[in-house]
Parts: sequence; structure tokens; C-alpha cells
Amino acid sequence: MSDCVFCQIGSRELPAMVVYEDREFLAFRDINPQAPVHILVVPKRHCNSILDFQDGDDGLLGRMVLAAQRIARQEHLARRGFRLVLNSGSDGGQAVGHVHLHLLGGRTLKWPPG
Ligand code: 5GP
Ligand code: ZN
Repeated sequence: MSDCVFCQIGSRELPAMVVYEDREFLAFRDINPQAPVHILVVPKRHCNSILDFQDGDDGLLGRMVLAAQRIARQEHLARRGFRLVLNSGSDGGQAVGHVHLHLLGGRTLKWPPG
């Protein structure tokens, strides 16, 4: 059993509210939502941080954003807008060491973030 919480969700050892799945990604609702819609888009392949990606991963990264776009439409966020966030490292506020793209929407979000 992996000790990575998002790998455990990916293998269904841990439950989650899954909203989207394809060959490469799983997307589920954040357990501690910061907005009415707060979804995490997670590559099924374990990678610790955005710093682990290389030139050959451009396709995966592009498809991750396209998956988020599809989910944003599905969640009726296209008209009013939404935010995509990739936290990295301790200053970036990354708490889970498996890359995940936050999709936030359903309210007006402040800028700059805290
Ligand atoms: P980070 O701070 O690493 O960018 O974001 C991690 C996110 O994962 C947080 O928003 C946190 O609420 C969420 N999270 C942590 N553990 C779980 C879990 O077991 N299930 C779900 N659905 N979300 C989780
Ligand atoms: Zn993992």
C-alpha cells in the first residue's frame, strides 16, 4: 500500500467524491473546500512536485489543464470564471506531495492570494 494519500485515492483504497476520470487523471472534490467548487485534478502517475516534470511531460501537463477546463464546464464555471492553482513546496503551500491542480470557483476569489 502506497503511503501517498492521492495514490491511495487513485487505487480506491481511500474514498473520494470523484467528478472526472480518464486514463491519466482522476479529479475529486477537496476534503476541505475553499470555495463552493474546489476540485483537485491529479495525475494517476505519482510525481512529488511540478519540479519533477521534464520536457517530455509537456503533453501530460497540457492534458491536465484541458481536463480542468472540461470539469470547469461540467461544474458550470465557464461563464463566471474560475481559478487553477499549482502549489509547489513549503512557500507555495504544498501540503500533499503528489502533484495536483486546484480548480476553484463558485465565488469571487481575491487577488493576490494570502
Ligand atoms: P496543497 O496544499 O498540497 O496544494 O493542497 C492539498 C489539498 O488536498 C488541500 O486542499 C486538502 O484539503 C486536500 N486534501 C488533503 N487530503 C485529502 C483527502 O484525503 N481527500 C481529499 N478529497 N482532499 C484532501
Ligand atoms: Zn502519489
